[in-house]
Amino acid sequence: MTEIRVIALPTTTVQKVLATMSSPGYGHPAHREVATGHGPCRHCLKPFQVGMEERVLFTCNPFYELAEVPLPGPVFVHGEMCERFDEEGGYPRELLAYPAVMDGYDAEQRLVRQQRASNGDQESVVREMLQDAEIRYVMVRDLEAGCFDFRVERRTGNG
Ligand SMILES: [Zn+2]
Repeated sequence: MTEIRVIALPTTTVQKVLATMSSPGYGHPAHREVATGHGPCRHCLKPFQVGMEERVLFTCNPFYELAEVPLPGPVFVHGEMCERFDEEGGYPRELLAYPAVMDGYDAEQRLVRQQRASNGDQESVVREMLQDAEIRYVMVRDLEAGCFDFRVERRTGNG
């Protein structure tokens, strides 16, 4: 079975956004609001408590330092610094309730395969995709909103 690494946004990126209230690399103003949707937060990968928690919206390129062509889109993080999701924690349990679309890219940023997953089979779908040697990483997006949630790679080495 392929072991996976679940890669949320880097803590340094989130710190920068909260400190400057602008989008890294774009400068678009970030927007703070009380959550009106489940999110998730792209740092701790937990869904927002609608009407309770504050979140910050900004423009993010999930391919930054990964592939040549940017694909900026809107993302949310908690309005207060939270703890980054543990890369070895498996598919985020709290997100299993939300259908996802998974885009498997090769080393040239070509989309090799796209699959949908829901009803708790998200982790087995992404593991199965990563058994394809051509796929370097999988971008997980919310099926309804279409926005980038996080990236998944194979775990390498002894980890
Ligand atoms: Zn968070």
